[in-house]
Amino acid sequence: MHITASQLYNYIQCPHRVWRDIYGPQDEKEKEANSFVELLWEKGVQHEEKIISRIGDFTDTSKGSLEERFEKTKEAMDNKTPLIYQGVIQHKNLLGIPDLLKKLPDGNYIAVDIKSGSGLEGVDEHEGKEGKFKKHYAAQLCLYTDILNKLGYSNIKVGRIIDIHGEEVDYDLMSPRGKKNPQTWWEFYEQIKKHVEFLMKNQYKNKPAMAGICKLCPWYKSCKKWCDETQDLTNIFYLGRSNRDVINDDLSINNIEEFLDLDIENIKKEKKKDKSYLKGLGETSLSKYLRRADILINTKEPVAYEPIVFPEVECELFFDIEDDPTQEFVYMHGVYERRGGKERYVHFTAEKVNDEEEKRVWGDFWEYIKSLPKDNFAVYYYSHHEKTTYRKLQEQYSDVISMEEVEEFFENPNVIDLYKIVLKETDFPLGSYSLKAIANYMGFKWRDESPSGALSIQWFNKYIETGDKSILKRILEYNEDDCKATMVLKDGLEKLQLINKN
Ligand code: SF4
Repeated sequence: MHITASQLYNYIQCPHRVWRDIYGPQDEKEKEANSFVELLWEKGVQHEEKIISRIGDFTDTSKGSLEERFEKTKEAMDNKTPLIYQGVIQHKNLLGIPDLLKKLPDGNYIAVDIKSGSGLEGVDEHEGKEGKFKKHYAAQLCLYTDILNKLGYSNIKVGRIIDIHGEEVDYDLMSPRGKKNPQTWWEFYEQIKKHVEFLMKNQYKNKPAMAGICKLCPWYKSCKKWCDETQDLTNIFYLGRSNRDVINDDLSINNIEEFLDLDIENIKKEKKKDKSYLKGLGETSLSKYLRRADILINTKEPVAYEPIVFPEVECELFFDIEDDPTQEFVYMHGVYERRGGKERYVHFTAEKVNDEEEKRVWGDFWEYIKSLPKDNFAVYYYSHHEKTTYRKLQEQYSDVISMEEVEEFFENPNVIDLYKIVLKETDFPLGSYSLKAIANYMGFKWRDESPSGALSIQWFNKYIETGDKSILKRILEYNEDDCKATMVLKDGLEKLQLINKN
């Protein structure tokens, strides 16, 4: 069995996935790929084809068995071929198929991968952040470079990404991972490669952990069943894999029942004696998780820790956008409006995928906002996504509205992110505090049987391709239901029973 780029990617997404793929109960694995994962894959292939079509001459080694392709790739590198497409490189248990192998003027070969995402993460011009290398891109380039080094076709540790915008981003794999993290990308790669190897040989076995990423994974139902049956601590909202592992190791507590017996005073004393004890888990976090565990297992009732009061205004808007991250395109701004006892759904939807259309619908949304009774409306949304996306849209279409106006809009105390309130002021007997989980809990039902933002993206792409109005109807109903769910949540939060945090 070879260590490949996809194994490293899976390990970075979830350290348990590598083990489960090989040794997990195969009959519990979802056979069909998640529609969003499929869409990402399709977009990736399309983007790769687009880049390849304009890259100039290259030697194509994409046909034949892996062995044949490996031989052809070596032969091409021995012949100093400038550019090789889909070469196969392998050394012992390492196997890689970089999109391109490029010969540099000094004779070294570097691996180049074509990605349908940005080359760096965390770039935020507004906040002055330059961005950093993406973990999974860096690990993948390290694997290819490792093989090239071992085969003697390179003595440098550099890779390259051609990103969604066609930009070339060089990854210096010997550079530190961050300003505060001196570990180099290469050291990071060596570390995860070792873990993956142990997991693949079944010399080490780790556990599932409920996380946001699980929804896209073919093992979701299987791992969820395991977490439910074992009362795993990751069922507690936000506790997460690393805290769970620390609690398992330091306290030998493996399920929620045992966790509920935790003595915080005792923990405080132990932590004073030994700084490495329960590393990263302070008294405040532990108390928070304890409260959530109690609500999940014992009281089973949602609670508010502070009175939740919303503005009294003539017009309330429940707002949600839909965007396609695979092409960085915002295709819908939806609002459910409640005004003077009447309710209606308003939407601003793109009919084509181009900048002009994206700008048009965004402009229409702002026109609508400007038409509202001044200082007599409130806007509710869930999570920072809308705010972040609007900042990006402003940078792209600065003549629609100024950044000051966008900032002023979100800073208005009547423009409210309900997720912040849920997180700070409440707790629910749920493992997830997503809008879907909470609104469902409050009794709201989406009209679609399998509502998801990922599916909406897929439907929108289909709608643009076919012009089929029945698909558009499904997208609109989904967005309208998301907006209505935000209204149900707002109303539900107002009615929550107050309890004292301490
Ligand atoms: S469902 Fe979650 S825990 Fe299980 S393998 Fe997938 S990502 Fe990992």
